[in-house]
Amino acid sequence: MSPSIHIHLTKYSYNLVYLNSLVQNQDMTSMAVSKVFSADQKLIDVINKTNIKYIGDSRIQNLIHMKTEKEKVLLRTPLLSEIVDVVKHVDISLNSEIEVIRALDKEAGKQNKKHQIILMFDIGDLREGIYYQSDYIPVVKQILELKNIEFSGIGTNLTCYGGVIPTFETLKKLENIKLDIEKTFAIPIKIISGGNSSSIKLVLDETMPTFINNHRIGEGYVLGRETAYGNHIESMHDDVFTLQAEIIELKEKPSMPEGLLGFDAFGKKVSFEDKGQMTRAILGVGRQDVHCEDLIAPKGIHVLGCSSDHLIVQIAGGKYKLGDTITFKLTYGGILSLMTSPYVRRVYET
Ligand SMILES: *Cc1c(COP(=O)(O)O)cnc(C)c1O
Repeated sequence: MSPSIHIHLTKYSYNLVYLNSLVQNQDMTSMAVSKVFSADQKLIDVINKTNIKYIGDSRIQNLIHMKTEKEKVLLRTPLLSEIVDVVKHVDISLNSEIEVIRALDKEAGKQNKKHQIILMFDIGDLREGIYYQSDYIPVVKQILELKNIEFSGIGTNLTCYGGVIPTFETLKKLENIKLDIEKTFAIPIKIISGGNSSSIKLVLDETMPTFINNHRIGEGYVLGRETAYGNHIESMHDDVFTLQAEIIELKEKPSMPEGLLGFDAFGKKVSFEDKGQMTRAILGVGRQDVHCEDLIAPKGIHVLGCSSDHLIVQIAGGKYKLGDTITFKLTYGGILSLMTSPYVRRVYET
């Protein structure tokens, strides 16, 4: 059955061990982030065999079904409607709303548990977190008074919405918060979670500020790249996940549509360049599975476009026949959507 996503477990294992050892050598723990592959248990089992300390995911459903002895971390601030499951299935959650933290405390009391939180600070990227210039000390004071909540750390997330790159100056804002909280309440903060795959360059260059002791990594482990500048990390694998799709039509056709031109299947105005006759293949995969911009075509193949169920590519004439499959590398977005499409078969390789 096609399309299929091929998942190379040994390559993922290599990426985990390689990058995690760099992180550990710099006195940090790492958190492997599993949301891009919907916490597929075969990949969770690969993480389970490493000495990575935490597994993070943004969806409570993924954390519920995942089998692991690692500490489970909920990355997205808990929905007020999922507090019971969060307390039941998650060790640590990332938070930015005192109302949610109070709800966690109340539920943890009911379940006779302690729930750990990492308080998130927004230091400029404008996604989640308490804004660093706001008066956060009263919030921390209220958290410290809660009986069933353990204030385990602080964290920040960058290069997600605003594209802010983790520089020394930007991370200094998080350090100031750490020092301020530690001084005000005379407590050490256990976890300082400094960022995501956009901080990998600081690890490679050994310029990560020393106050940071935890690093959350999804894309870096999966695609072997850092996301601040988008560079590949030497010796890591960028093909843990690949897509195979089958040729269902193969014909010589012109490159220009013919007739009065209006809109495509998604209501977008179309425009074309005349490149003459070409060999065009249609593959049995479409936007219901993946956006064609998220496919990285092999040499000699050029993606022309896609609709819900058809991917149209230009290929060299005579090289392929009907029924052949073509293998694509994938972007992060491509892996995310293919791993969430029920139409895509998963094939595990070692
Ligand atoms: C998804 C996510 C990560 C991992 O990001 P990558 O860029 O894939 O490393 C880290 N932290 C939070 C809060 C996230 O939501």
